[in-house]
Amino acid sequence: MNKKINRKSFFKGIALGTISLPFLIRACGGKNVAQNITAPNILSAKKYRWKMVTTWPPNFPVLGEGCNLFAQWVNEMSDGRLAIEVYGSGELVPGLQAFDTVSAGGADMGSGAAYYWAGKTPAAQFFASVPFGMNAQQLNAWILCGGGMQLWEELYAPYNLVPMLGGNTGVQMGGWFNREINSLADLKGLKMRIPGLGGKVLNRAGGTAVLSAGSEIYTNLERGVIDATEWIGPYHDYVMGFHNIADYYYSPGWHEVGTALEFFINKKRYDALPKDLQVILQTAAARLNIWMLSEFEAKNSIYLRKLVEEEKVSVRFYPPEVLAQLRSFTEEIITEITDQDPMSKKIYDSYQKFRQGAVKWSELTEKVFYNNLQI
Ligand code: CA
Repeated sequence: MNKKINRKSFFKGIALGTISLPFLIRACGGKNVAQNITAPNILSAKKYRWKMVTTWPPNFPVLGEGCNLFAQWVNEMSDGRLAIEVYGSGELVPGLQAFDTVSAGGADMGSGAAYYWAGKTPAAQFFASVPFGMNAQQLNAWILCGGGMQLWEELYAPYNLVPMLGGNTGVQMGGWFNREINSLADLKGLKMRIPGLGGKVLNRAGGTAVLSAGSEIYTNLERGVIDATEWIGPYHDYVMGFHNIADYYYSPGWHEVGTALEFFINKKRYDALPKDLQVILQTAAARLNIWMLSEFEAKNSIYLRKLVEEEKVSVRFYPPEVLAQLRSFTEEIITEITDQDPMSKKIYDSYQKFRQGAVKWSELTEKVFYNNLQI
């Protein structure tokens, strides 16, 4: 038997880890040879304890819960070799310091949304949400299969970070108002809690974008500090109780068509992990990505019904001409960003090229289907 084994393929088998250790001992005809070979299939017993800092309040519905699930899955898949402790915003560092903390090695990984880091590198926001941009399905396709991930890795490399997709909210709602929006004039002078590029667009429309922490929005709206607010979708909005203090619930969330959530991992810590633990992190992130979108879809449909049927909320739509004008402001603002920042131009060109193809495909298929939907 020993003589039949081709020496070349035998050692190739060792390199690929496809030859089991008992066979190796038999094949080599003695334990002396086996003792000199490091078996590639034997896992390192080394245990890693990681800290994840997040931009979410502790155990925040869906987003914070997702981080907890991710840590649980990694722990189960690695049989406890990679244990991740999840910290909500403010528990280890304030949420908006998560990026810098992980970059500097103060924590091993973080969870957030890339548009939070637009002040550091404007192109980051293209990996979270672009007003009137790609929905969750299209954004996943661009990042995972259309070259987006390579650009994202390039963008985060100077910060010593490795990005991963870590969920998506799906399309959000347009927000809660105490006045009807019938024309652009109704946005003039409107003080609205709306973050990111959407806030810049509102400012250009004559409104005032206000940044309020999640915990302050309800009181600010109730007391008239703000006239309107967006938040997420029916589930989170119901929990916040906005229907008790606002008359109209507007659709769609033109500013957040399908916001991606992210993980950012300290690159040195990631590179120091054995390959199988790296793959476990990737696999858990991929599982979270589909779980989160599914959880939003499931919860939002239940809570939309509660809002409309039980709370008698008046759902309205932005008039098409208002949306067209907001879209035109969005294009102006993105052009200003890409004119000033070469990396933003490089990434947005890829985003936009991919989007154009995806829109053509969906116009031919899903759009036709949605336009003919019957409940
Ligand atoms: Ca939002």
